[in-house]
Amino acid sequence: MELAPRIREIAPSPTLSLDAKAKAMKAEGRDVISFGVGEPDFDTPDHIKAAGIKAIEANFTRYTPTGGIVELKKAVVEKFKRDNQLEYTPNQIVINCGGKHTLYNLAQVLFSAGEEVVIPSPYWVSYPPIVSLAGARPVIVPTVQKNDFKMTAGELTAALTPATRGLILNSPSNPTGSVYSRKELEALAEVVLEHKLIVITDDIYEKILYDGHVFVNMANLGPELKNQTIIAHGLAKTYAMTGWRIGFLAGPAHVAAAVDKLQSQSTSNPCSIAQKAAVAALEGPQESIGVMVAAFDERRKYLVKALNGIPGVTCFSPGGAFYVFPNVSAYYGKRFGDRAICGSSDLCDYLLDEALVAAVPGSAFGEDSCIRLSYAISLEENRRGLERIANALANLK
Ligand SMILES: *Cc1c(COP(=O)(O)O)cnc(C)c1O
Repeated sequence: MELAPRIREIAPSPTLSLDAKAKAMKAEGRDVISFGVGEPDFDTPDHIKAAGIKAIEANFTRYTPTGGIVELKKAVVEKFKRDNQLEYTPNQIVINCGGKHTLYNLAQVLFSAGEEVVIPSPYWVSYPPIVSLAGARPVIVPTVQKNDFKMTAGELTAALTPATRGLILNSPSNPTGSVYSRKELEALAEVVLEHKLIVITDDIYEKILYDGHVFVNMANLGPELKNQTIIAHGLAKTYAMTGWRIGFLAGPAHVAAAVDKLQSQSTSNPCSIAQKAAVAALEGPQESIGVMVAAFDERRKYLVKALNGIPGVTCFSPGGAFYVFPNVSAYYGKRFGDRAICGSSDLCDYLLDEALVAAVPGSAFGEDSCIRLSYAISLEENRRGLERIANALANLK
């Protein structure tokens, strides 16, 4: 049976397939250390779990309104007011089945064939296929390590054509951990306004910040920009809720209505139980975030220092998220026996097979000179894993 071209043309998520391979090796009893995972190693806080249990016991197990329960939309409105000084009304909010679903839905309602969407590289693996699945063309704009892999106004301008419809921004970034400052966003905003671009911001790592970095969204730069911006967000990373599948968006009411309509003909509502847990997450105590971020920060500092101590490796210090993105290209062109290391993909295969360490090749994010290490594993595992990486690299001749 022939499959439709749209699905033949996209690749499976490389991060999820790498994770699957590492898990399979672990299941065989091999001592794999995985820097591959893109989820916090913390448990969902107890009061959030309790709200989910209570929802089941109260039989809150039926269809809800397609775009989410009013109680949760109001909690999201409050979140934006409290954390971001942004005013929205509930009809500008839609609850989706995870942050990835939020982005997918937005691409479906905003972009179409013949249109281009700018994606700065390194990018999160799912942005290009999400744009392609909407029939539009992802335009990858390479950024440079010297600027911590952040797109400049000049780079954005150079990528524009009459077909450009919008761009996707992710700060703090997966995979680089870079955070855009207000000034950097202001420079991009000038281009956005001049060309009336749609900005989708992926704010999933908003709360995971270090070194005094302050989170700013394009929508904070004035009413005109707020009208051009749709915020895609979710609970997965902030509250260690990756399995609950709750994402949300905030943006112009007609865009929200379009996403609601799309959901009404596709997924229907997000899980009723998870929505109740989401209300508890947004309205309940927020202390768990600080505890998690402090643990990440300790590992981050260790990794950045240790990586920069490996000959030939350079790693800038990320301001957010839970990834480091070291440049390891000094090892390309070397060999281990008859195994040649020609790029990030070869290097990660080598690390997994010979050092039992899982890392994601930078090529998956559009930047072959680097690899991505997630530090959502204990400090002890970070240490052991890094030792293995250092040894494995030293064995390349
Ligand atoms: C994890 C992640 C998401 C969303 O994840 P969900 O599990 O679908 O909520 C979105 N964007 C980036 C960059 C991510 O890393």
